[in-house]
Amino acid sequence: MGSYGTNHLILTPEYGPRVRFIAILTNMEISHDKPDIEFLSDRCKDCDECVRVCPVGAIGKNGTINKFLCRDYMFESLKGLRCGLCLKACPIDRR
Ligand code: SF4
Ligand code: SF4
Repeated sequence: MGSYGTNHLILTPEYGPRVRFIAILTNMEISHDKPDIEFLSDRCKDCDECVRVCPVGAIGKNGTINKFLCRDYMFESLKGLRCGLCLKACPIDRR
């Protein structure tokens, strides 16, 4: 469905990280295709938009993320509102 991005979100070719996934629980046997897309997105090699936009420096260009900085920013500074700047900034298919 997509590749993993520096912002730790799934980047889909069609919509970048602007997607929502749901799960369906089943005991049905389901076959799967061989992945035809890279695990880590090539697009991140020449981009650091999410790294630069994060107001608390939670995202590292080396692929690390400090979830506690992100959590504290949203629950303390934003009083429970969501941030999402790292999603909004991603240039992969920003329409
Ligand atoms: S949601 Fe906001 S605070 Fe959290 S990693 Fe993304 S840009 Fe940073
Ligand atoms: S903003 Fe750039 S570095 Fe971050 S996930 Fe999107 S393409 Fe990758």
